[in-house]
Amino acid sequence: MNNLKNLRGTVDLLPNQLIKWQNVEKIILEQLSRASIKEIRTPILEMTELFIRGIGEGTDVVSKEMYTFLDRGERSCTLRPEGTASVARALIQEGMTSNPLQKIWYMGPMFRYERPQAGRQRQFHQLGVEFIGYESVRSDVEIIALAWDILGKLGIKELNLEINSLGDITDRLNFQESFLKWLERNKDSLDLDSQNRINKNPLRILDSKNIQTKNILENSPKLFNFLSEKSLERYLELKNQLEFLKIPFKENFNLVRGLDYYTHTAFEITSGALGSQATVCGGGRYDNLFKDMGGKDTPAIGFAIGLERLILLAGQELDISRRTDIYIVNQGLLAENFATDLSRKLRKYDLIVELDLSGASFSKQLKKANKLNSKCVIVIGDQEAANKEFVIRLFDKEKSKNTEEAIPFDNYTKLDQWLNNNLLSN
Ligand code: ATP
Ligand code: MG
Repeated sequence: MNNLKNLRGTVDLLPNQLIKWQNVEKIILEQLSRASIKEIRTPILEMTELFIRGIGEGTDVVSKEMYTFLDRGERSCTLRPEGTASVARALIQEGMTSNPLQKIWYMGPMFRYERPQAGRQRQFHQLGVEFIGYESVRSDVEIIALAWDILGKLGIKELNLEINSLGDITDRLNFQESFLKWLERNKDSLDLDSQNRINKNPLRILDSKNIQTKNILENSPKLFNFLSEKSLERYLELKNQLEFLKIPFKENFNLVRGLDYYTHTAFEITSGALGSQATVCGGGRYDNLFKDMGGKDTPAIGFAIGLERLILLAGQELDISRRTDIYIVNQGLLAENFATDLSRKLRKYDLIVELDLSGASFSKQLKKANKLNSKCVIVIGDQEAANKEFVIRLFDKEKSKNTEEAIPFDNYTKLDQWLNNNLLSN
């Protein structure tokens, strides 16, 4: 038994680490609900087919990174590598008749079979937001602003927003024609992976991480130069609106993003504080996904934020948990019953109450209360149980005063008053 370990690339998040996670999640949830965005939860396990069709066969994610297996019914299943395809499937399946315009978010684990390293795991977490049915440039801007503000609210420094336009299908086909000619001429200088993609999915070559290929691509035709007037206008309007909101951005005509379904706006937010895995947020418009997946023609735009990278970046102040309000030291059979009963009463307030269950000596329990820097201590022993009265003591280090009050177990008014005067008021 003693050599059982977690799978490579997966991690345990321990109670101490989760303080920061929970604080980060709380801020995110507040921002989302203020923007009136609703949550969706789809299954972690899906038919493999969904991702092949949704994300695209020639992508890194589908060709190399999926966790795929046969279930007992010999169906090919995959642990979701991203959220958008599942969201689209769920909405198509549900009919979307009630609400063709939806702003939704999801958060949860994703799975990709990649080489584990700092900021890169096989099970990781993403927050995603999708605006479904929205076509206007304003929706692109709102979604970018939303991501920008979430990252800002979390105190993340050195943020860079990069934008590009991938045009529509026609623009892409026009570009592909000339890009293919260029690829044939430069085939021998490309890495093997990219060579293999020439016939399968040439656009993916633009996304290559191979340094040599990246250098050669500097001189390749640019998709941006093949944008129709309409696509270009859309892109200019996006820039205008971002400027109006004073959200700084850089144009990056090499930005294509790893999944097949993007059209028009593509963006990434990186942080200089992250090192090599610098992308915290990736997003873009995917107007063809719903149709490609058998749904109605539905424009949409979204983004995904990698939570592991976000946690690395978020401010240290988020690593601190709320202080214990009341620590209940207790020992002796009857005393323990009173203590349990009292802890339940106290938890009806917005207070953090720790009931010591150790059965250790009073002095040991008091030491623990001290170590936790609890604001108050209540001690309940045989004597308190016999007198049906306990003493609550407030430690106020800043003002260096200790207030004590004896409160009968059955006098709720007195307890209520004391709590209101000493704990709940500040
Ligand atoms: P990368 O270029 O880093 O591989 P990607 O293009 O594969 O990113 P997306 O599919 O756009 O990433 O996912 C959005 C975000 O999810 C990324 O920006 C990153 O923060 C996070 N992410 C992606 N893969 C991983 C992983 N294996 N471990 C941790 N976070 C990840
Ligand atoms: Mg990747």
